[in-house]
Amino acid sequence: MSYNINKKGYYGKFGGAFIPEMLYPNVEELRQNYLKVMAEPEFKKEFNQLLKDYVGRPSPLYFAKRLSEKYNTKIYLKREDLNHTGAHKINNTIGQILMAMRLGKTRIIAETGAGQHGVATATVCALMGLECIVYMGDIDIARQAPNVARMKMLGAEVRPALSGSRTLKDATNEAIRDWINNPVNTHYIIGSVVGPHPYPDMVARFQSVVSEEIQWQLKEQEGSSKPDYVVACIGGGSNAAGVYYHYLDDEDVKLIAVEAAGKGVDSGASAATSVLGKEGIIHGSKTLLMQTKDGQITEPYSISAGLDYPGVGPMHAHLYKSGRAEFISITDDDAMTAGLEMCKLEGIIPAIETSHALAVFDKKQFNKNDIVVVSLSGRGDKDLDTYINHFKL
Ligand SMILES: *Cc1c(COP(=O)(O)O)cnc(C)c1O
Repeated sequence: MSYNINKKGYYGKFGGAFIPEMLYPNVEELRQNYLKVMAEPEFKKEFNQLLKDYVGRPSPLYFAKRLSEKYNTKIYLKREDLNHTGAHKINNTIGQILMAMRLGKTRIIAETGAGQHGVATATVCALMGLECIVYMGDIDIARQAPNVARMKMLGAEVRPALSGSRTLKDATNEAIRDWINNPVNTHYIIGSVVGPHPYPDMVARFQSVVSEEIQWQLKEQEGSSKPDYVVACIGGGSNAAGVYYHYLDDEDVKLIAVEAAGKGVDSGASAATSVLGKEGIIHGSKTLLMQTKDGQITEPYSISAGLDYPGVGPMHAHLYKSGRAEFISITDDDAMTAGLEMCKLEGIIPAIETSHALAVFDKKQFNKNDIVVVSLSGRGDKDLDTYINHFKL
């Protein structure tokens, strides 16, 4: 059994491309070209060079000694927080901007919720001198002011989405509308392993550099390229896809996915998509999403803006339904506590998204000799106000 995508663009029964006819030419152009382009030696060379010299890869695989002592197991942190712009998202935007240029595109659009993907997109557009328009919910623009300022500094235009709940899913709808109106010169950079095929697979491949590095880094430090567990938080699922990728079909390596329970899975204020979600279609993909009985998308909630998404990528829907990955839900409070503990024990301030993954050690007992790799997906500078308010520091 393979847990990776099949030729038709599905992970098990999840995935596919459920798109309006008007969008078909754009998505089809990408589908026909993405693997070909990614296989070109020149493309690989430029991608790898930028990952090295601009992003700062390889990111370290750091043995967290004090955290390991506390939980009596061997914990390694994959330090995506040390990348340029502070998270794993840049791995994908570098790949996609190179793809867009190979396809002759001169204009880039993106959607963003918390603004992290918007910043990573604005960054690569500045790097390449391409026009950049980022759609963002009006509400998110107000509550994520520092990232809006960053995007503007980087030369992007931030366009407010004024419809619906004026958050991420509305921004995505606006971006799709823009793409329909600008099919020839525009590429839409999606920020996670979501959207119509081939996006989930393309983004997973760009992020797969993370587990490619873990393999040789762990070999160097532990004599084996395989950990016992790989742990990651899941918003749409791109940092998880990156750390899982080269271990997907190796069932010796157990996968743990951590979702945001918000105020509690049954509280009505959560983003625990796999547990609460039902099959449905969101943003062009058949997957699990939180919805009402009539199929209306439910507003998600998490203290962490990056996990506040009502769906999950089709790869993760399949990993959940097949039982390949174990899914754990972590509340706001437990995530914040784990984040603060990381600061005190290791001198690393993690993004609140990442803190959800770190909370796994309080929920699950590992053996003394288990090697557990955690995706440290991003740094917490953007979250200082939230931490400070939460702990009344
Ligand atoms: C955006 C973000 C996430 C969630 O997105 P995924 O696609 O699930 O990885 C997690 N951590 C950080 C630091 C982020 O910025």
